[in-house]
Amino acid sequence: MKRRDFINHLGASALGLAAIQEAFADGTILSNAPIQIPTNTGVSGRVVVVGGGMAGTTAAKFLRLWGGTGVEVTLVEPNAVYYSNIFSNMVLTGDRTLSQITFNYNTLVSKYGVKLETSAVTNIDPIGKNVRLSNGKTLAYDRMILAPGIDFDPLPLSGTADNQAKILHAWKAGAQTTALKAQIQSMTKNDTFILTIPPKPYRCPPGPYERACVVADYLKRVKGGGKVIILDANSGIQAQPTNFTNAFNNTHKGIITYVPGATINSIDANTGTVNTAVGSFNGKVINAIPTHKAGNLITQSGIGLANAGGGRWAGVNVLSYESTAVPNVHIIGDASSTTQPKAGHIANAEAKVCVDAIIKLFRGETVNQAPITNSSCFTPITKTTASWLSVVFRYDPATATMLPTGKGVVESNGASKDFHEDMLKWFDNLMSDTFA
Ligand SMILES: Cc1cc2nc3c(=O)[nH]c(=O)nc-3n(C[C@H](O)[C@H](O)[C@H](O)COP(=O)(O)OP(=O)(O)OC[C@H]3O[C@@H](n4cnc5c(N)ncnc54)[C@H](O)[C@@H]3O)c2cc1C
Repeated sequence: MKRRDFINHLGASALGLAAIQEAFADGTILSNAPIQIPTNTGVSGRVVVVGGGMAGTTAAKFLRLWGGTGVEVTLVEPNAVYYSNIFSNMVLTGDRTLSQITFNYNTLVSKYGVKLETSAVTNIDPIGKNVRLSNGKTLAYDRMILAPGIDFDPLPLSGTADNQAKILHAWKAGAQTTALKAQIQSMTKNDTFILTIPPKPYRCPPGPYERACVVADYLKRVKGGGKVIILDANSGIQAQPTNFTNAFNNTHKGIITYVPGATINSIDANTGTVNTAVGSFNGKVINAIPTHKAGNLITQSGIGLANAGGGRWAGVNVLSYESTAVPNVHIIGDASSTTQPKAGHIANAEAKVCVDAIIKLFRGETVNQAPITNSSCFTPITKTTASWLSVVFRYDPATATMLPTGKGVVESNGASKDFHEDMLKWFDNLMSDTFA
């Protein structure tokens, strides 16, 4: 694929246009016209969207944009702002500031008429079809979308409470991102950074390898050297294997050591020792990413939503993202169990398929039986170069899952400055499609 074609493809991807064009085969809703909430769609209903991250924010916006003013949308999110995980690795190395990856919900409210509750959902009543919020309010819904992202299993830590508190994941951007950045900045060229990767599924398959690369690049450029040890609980590199193998063996040769099969047994926070199935490793900074599960709202709902992956994830019908356990409740983004990666770009695409389905269901129509989603992930390899992967998924009726189409997962031919420029545009497109 030529670079220009790829950018065009990505522009469409970030806007979800390829998916939308397929999803809206009748073409009635799709438009590139200036944004205006339609008033005459004939659709009405109340939707509560829980979680203002990549998935939930996109859903809230597009419910209004495509459903019109008859669709009453309330977004429930406890935080006033959203720190993007995407690009947060670049905050660790000082190439971006936290404020450059901070987004708010002002446009959602002012431009699209979404109602915002800055609060958390604490209880779901699927019979009464309402949710209780931590601010004491109760919201009734006709359909609900849950997008609470992920939570973690506890790490097997020992050591003083102070030292344990220094073991960060920074896998939810925000305060931990700033704290891990300070730890990295305190390193010298004689120090070692240990990054542990949990068993799949985890959010952003290339994300940990990307982090290892940008930290290695930072140590080399700014500190004149250092070591990065990647302890991967998986048997091999989970995304862009060719590009990352090349980055570890060539671009960051002598700095990065990649260790597969490194299931963690224990971490001694006092000595900085990580004990794994393949040996013990010592570092000054331990960046341990714990094993993931769906957001606590799902696993602790008490209504059976976590019915996939051994009770860790939410099973959904990928034609509508409706829960396979609880009717009228849809689950999108990282919390759901599908064959698609846990990533922000795909969360944005899933949200649109879900919104389209809810609007059709409000109309009494059958949901689209052939949805398409897509995901692109750019990964900085150094301060000035990046690589990417891209994949398009199509619904497979035989397995009732989303399967990669065409060439499957396509990896860029190495890392380059051009791809780094494309990455900046991709991010702006994706984030404005979600928040603006
Ligand atoms: C370092 C890193 C790099 C990444 N890079 C990329 C990338 O390049 N490309 C890409 O596509 N993806 C990337 N990702 C992955 C991406 O960030 C996630 O997949 C994406 O954020 C998932 O969206 P989500 O809406 O499911 O969850 P989130 O974005 O985490 O949003 C969940 C929201 O739900 C809210 N919430 C939780 N519980 C409740 C409750 N009870 N009530 C109300 N609200 C609640 C939370 O406050 C949060 O705002 C990266 C991730 C990391 C960590």
